[in-house]
Amino acid sequence: LFARPIVFVKGCVRLADLPPMDRVEIAFAGRSNVGKSSLINALCGTSSLARTSNTPGRTQELNIFESQSEELRIVDMPGYGYAKAPEPKVKAWTQLIHQYLTGRATLRRVYVLIDSRHGPKDNDISVMNELDRAAVSYQVVLTKADKPLSKDVEKVVAMTRAAIAKRPAAHPEVLLTSSEKGEGLKELRTEIAMLLES
Ligand code: GDP
Repeated sequence: LFARPIVFVKGCVRLADLPPMDRVEIAFAGRSNVGKSSLINALCGTSSLARTSNTPGRTQELNIFESQSEELRIVDMPGYGYAKAPEPKVKAWTQLIHQYLTGRATLRRVYVLIDSRHGPKDNDISVMNELDRAAVSYQVVLTKADKPLSKDVEKVVAMTRAAIAKRPAAHPEVLLTSSEKGEGLKELRTEIAMLLES
């Protein structure tokens, strides 16, 4: 997995723009600035792949990447909780995300990224509620593990695990990652590889 390059395919602003459902998809979601682009880049071993999604205009699209060595599609979802976006735009992409998350048969798992300094916020909980309602599999990935003091990070990990354990459906274990230091990336790659095999 990730042995050969992952390439940017396109940005989608409406469902009709999405590629056909011809391969396994995983999606990455999270609040703006959670470290989503950094994680996708670190996973794929590049430094610029997901920068595309951080350029103005691209931030409100579903950005599609595809592996050249596996039948895998990666969907980079618009970061949420971005206060400055005008309301009609927020409405449009909330609807797009909802339609994508609830109607995509090839979507195997959503990785919900949460900052390890803060733990789940209200909008993260809303996303998890929506995924549980739609019976979409998801895994929480805590980011920026290298940032906080270690005693704080342990507390957030424990708190996040407890919060996930209380949810209506069972979910894979919470992962702790750092794109900067590489922590947890091997585990995340293993999880993705397992999805491709199942
Ligand atoms: P996005 O908006 O979710 O795509 O977030 P970015 O990937 O652009 O990251 C937001 C900020 O957090 C940038 O300044 C990154 O350099 C920083 N960042 C992302 N991941 C890490 C990490 O693992 N460790 C540290 N220390 N900083 C990170």
